[in-house]
Parts: sequence; C-alpha cells; structure tokens
Amino acid sequence: MNDEPQDPPGEAPQTGSGSEALNTKVYHSEIDPELKTKALEQMCAAIKGNGLKNDDVDITAYDGETLEFLAITELTLDTRLSTKRQAGKISGAMLVPNAGAFQGAVNKETHKIIHSLDVVERIRDAVLKRPDKGLCLEGVLIKLPFLHKDFVAHEPCNACGAKGKIPCPRCHGKGREPCPRCHARGSETCPTCGGRQYIQGANNQNQQCMRCNGTGRIGCTQCHEAREVPCSMCKAVGTMQCKQCNGHAWNSVLCLAEINPIAHYQIDRKTIPPQALEKLDLLGSNIQFHSNMQVVHRHKELEQERNDISIPYHIKVPMAHVMFMLKEKLEIPAFLFGTQAKLYDMPPFLEKIMGPGIKELKAAAMGQGDTASLVQKAGRYRTLQEILLATSKFGPKKALKIIAEKNPIGLSEDGTRKLVLMAYKAIGLLGKNPRMISIILGLTTAAGLFAAYWAVGKPALLPYLPHINNAVLMADATATLIALGAGYGLAKTYLKSAMKKSLESLFEK
Ligand SMILES: [Zn+2]
Ligand SMILES: [Zn+2]
Ligand SMILES: [Zn+2]
Ligand SMILES: [Zn+2]
Repeated sequence: MNDEPQDPPGEAPQTGSGSEALNTKVYHSEIDPELKTKALEQMCAAIKGNGLKNDDVDITAYDGETLEFLAITELTLDTRLSTKRQAGKISGAMLVPNAGAFQGAVNKETHKIIHSLDVVERIRDAVLKRPDKGLCLEGVLIKLPFLHKDFVAHEPCNACGAKGKIPCPRCHGKGREPCPRCHARGSETCPTCGGRQYIQGANNQNQQCMRCNGTGRIGCTQCHEAREVPCSMCKAVGTMQCKQCNGHAWNSVLCLAEINPIAHYQIDRKTIPPQALEKLDLLGSNIQFHSNMQVVHRHKELEQERNDISIPYHIKVPMAHVMFMLKEKLEIPAFLFGTQAKLYDMPPFLEKIMGPGIKELKAAAMGQGDTASLVQKAGRYRTLQEILLATSKFGPKKALKIIAEKNPIGLSEDGTRKLVLMAYKAIGLLGKNPRMISIILGLTTAAGLFAAYWAVGKPALLPYLPHINNAVLMADATATLIALGAGYGLAKTYLKSAMKKSLESLFEK
C-alpha cells in the first residue's frame, strides 16, 4: 500500500498502488465549459432578490480537473438451504443420493454458476437493471430467483422399514380380534330367561328355559362361538398403510437452495482526494447521475479464468475549484463536483449579503421597534421573505426543509435554523394577526414587482409602445395594477390558509 503523503488534489496524475484494477487518476483537463456557466447560474439564482444583481457576480478562479477511477462491485454467492420432508418419491428436482449430499450439490451448483458465462452475464444484467446499478452496495443481498435451485433425496421409510405398511396395532397382524360382544367367552347371557335358567310357566310354576336348555347361556350371536371377530381397525387385513410414507415406502427430503449474490463495492479510498471522496460518499449510487460512467465488459475468455463475478465501472467526474467574487470584494470559494455542476463546501454567503435584513428581522423578533415595518423591511430580501412566509404558513419545522430546497447554496443549516426562529418570534409578535402578515408581505410583493417593472420591464417595453402621448402612462398604470393585484392575491391566499387554522395551532409544533 502507498504510505506516501497525498499530493494535493489535482497536482499530478496519481496512480493507485493497491489493486491494479482500482487505479485512480486526477488530472487537469479542459472540463465542459457548460459547467462553469451552470455554476454561475446557481450563484445568480442564490443572490437573486437578495440585494445583489447578476452583474455583481464574477468567477475569478476556475480550476477544472477530472477525477477518473475504477469502482468494482464484487458479487459473492450466498447460499441458504431450507429442507422439508414429504411422503413419497418426489420428482422434478435434482436428485442427490441422500440428504447429506445437499451441501456438496449446492457447492457444485455455485461453481457451475460462476463458470457459466451466460449465467454470469444474466446476474450482471440483473444487478445493472437495479436503480442503483449495483453501485455503493456493501454487504447487500440481491435476490435473484433464477439462481434458486431445488434438490431432492429419496430415503427408504424407516417407520415401516420401506414396506409402506405396518402391522395393525390392534390385532398385531392377526387380522382378528377378541369378540367385543362376548369378551372372547363364545357365549352370552340367554335373553329369554335372562340367565335365570327357568321361566314363569302357565300356573305360575317355574319351567326350565327351552332356549338355553336351562344353562342360562346361549352361543354368542356375534362370533358364533368363535370367540374372535375380524379386526375392525385393519378390516381383517392385519396391516395398515404407513402414515409416514403414505404407503409409498419412500420419503423425500426436499432442499431449496436460495443462491443469491451479495454485493461488495470497492473503490480505492486511499487514492481518491478526500474532498472528492466526501462527495462520492454523499452521493452514493446517485453518482451515476453526476458522472460519465461506463460499465466495463471484460473479455469473455479472461472471465473464464476468474473465480468471482464482478462489475467494474469506469467513472469520470468533472470537478473544479471555483472562486466567486461578489461585488468585487467578497470572495466565495466553492467545490464543483459532477456533471450537474453541483456546488459544495461554500461558506454561508447569503447570511452575509442579507446582513441588513437579518438585523431588521432580529430586531423584529426581539420586539425592538415597530415589528410590522421591521418585518416588511426584512421581507425585501427574497430569502427572508421565503422564510417569513414558509414559517407562518407551515411552522418552523417544515419551513427549514422548504428553505433548504429553495436555497441550495449560501445558507448554513445552523444559520437557517436561527433565521426561522427569528421569523417565528417576529410573526408571534405581530399580535397573532394573520391579516397583518398577509398585508405586509402582500405590499412587499407589490413593491417588488413594481420595482422590477421600472428596472427591467419598462425599458424593455418602451420600443414596443405605440407612439401615443399617454401610452407610457397607461403601461405604468397597468403595471401598478398588476403589482397591486399580485400583492392582493398573495395576501388573500395567505389569509385564507391562515384563517382556516388558527395561528396558534399553526405555530405549535
Ligand atoms: Zn412408511
Ligand atoms: Zn387389525
Ligand atoms: Zn335361557
Ligand atoms: Zn362373541
């Protein structure tokens, strides 16, 4: 392993020394100029409405590099066996000599899978069809039912000694059992004399019973003095079907082998510059949307020699160290990473350029001065207005999320939390009057739109206006009406939702 200290990222091409396959390169290169434009656009979007104009934004340094590395998702086969017994000789699964041979058969099967190019290709395709394309999976089991296999072993039934039947437990194989009527005596009490041996005659004289000839007993009517009857359990057969094997004399042990690949993702973490590595970890499998990624298809003959299944990815990521300059004095560094030109590691510059507005919001939150006018002043900044609106409408918790989405750069998490808290307090101080907030913010919107008209709309419109004396005047009036209308609309929309729930319930969370 390479123990030498790392060169700063991008200084010189680096080669990973760990595994040959995982080598990493970082080199200066002409990266897509579109990325620089995208970076600039993001900055312009961030400062929009926050006290600066697009002209105030400049990029003073832009250092493009390409990070090129190999990632490998290695797939090892995991096998899980589950067995169950079933009566009879079950067919349709792969037959093995006995239940002890399952593991060996499964091992053979996995060996076959790894060495079959078609199956390997199929496994790879299945993994690549996942949304994550197999990227960044560590120890993840990927269920692939087409790899599952059934085995069966046939065993002679030991309950019946592989005969399929057992001696009748009632008659012990004789097929006959003692007569239940006479209890094997062969005779029963004479029903005519009831065993008294005589009956009452015509003159009340005792007469010998004619039926039993004065013995009191007659031959058993069920067994006819045989003392035995056919066994009622086995119907005189003497044997019964073995319940263990249902008479098949054999049982089957079924074994389902769930063979599934487990993915292990590898990149050479030692040779990838730390700042880039951090972003890779952040993006996870989404790196596929932020890079030029190619799945490397190995030569088939080469594949045959290998003892594993792996998917190598060749990943190229553009990155750049960018320096923005705001108003020719505020330097803002950023790390551009990926084909979407996402900007990372930026200081919370919005908190800086909105300074005066934040002061006003803070004063409003602390009840210093006229809260309403302070809130209105703070609302001149787009982001602060978003914070005020989102906080009053959705409560602080949800507002945090909304603001982070609307302002992906320039705000720190901590700073946003503080601002939302201030907004929350200031709104509370407005006398719990939703009408107040709506009117204030409505007016701000109207003022903003009107200002936009004067600054941008009107100059753009002038050449198209008809040359009538009062055309300009009419355009101004229309713009004013539109601006007021928009402000009124916003106020109304807000009022509606605020009235629905009371402010208290809105803010309690
Ligand atoms: Zn049996
Ligand atoms: Zn029997
Ligand atoms: Zn009798
Ligand atoms: Zn009998």
